Amino acid sequence: MQGHRFVADRMIGRLARMLRLLGYDTVYQPELNPVELAELARREGRIILTRGDTRQRFPGATNVFSVRSEYPPEQLREVVEEFSLDPKSGLWTRCTVCNGCISPVAKEEIKGQVKPKVYEIYSEFYRCAGCGRVYWHGSHVERILKNLSLVLGRKL
Ligand SMILES: [Zn+2]
Repeated sequence: MQGHRFVADRMIGRLARMLRLLGYDTVYQPELNPVELAELARREGRIILTRGDTRQRFPGATNVFSVRSEYPPEQLREVVEEFSLDPKSGLWTRCTVCNGCISPVAKEEIKGQVKPKVYEIYSEFYRCAGCGRVYWHGSHVERILKNLSLVLGRKL
């Protein structure tokens, strides 16, 4: 299980997606204003991730972390270090689009839901329990992992 749960402020959507990629439960609802966002964080025991002056934006909130970098991969590194996150154990367990959990699914079950070429080439498929999106283990996965490894300075 991944210990920390987050809610990402509207300006750091890409960071939210990267945290989901590592398996961390991260709410991202850009339509929420700071007051609503702080209320959600308090209610669900989530850490608020933001950028800029937290005291002005979230007065009184205690569980806030403000990233310094403007560059999402660098922001990810800041969060991983600050909370000693494990970037490996939850990798590919969460949907980057909706934050739902993804799990392996039999190849036959997703026939017709991916392009015929993809169905033909790949054998490992996953499906999101939240939005139904189908993922597969392709070359893009290796590329993303390589980039993440570079950013975090360790092998994934
Ligand atoms: Zn999903």
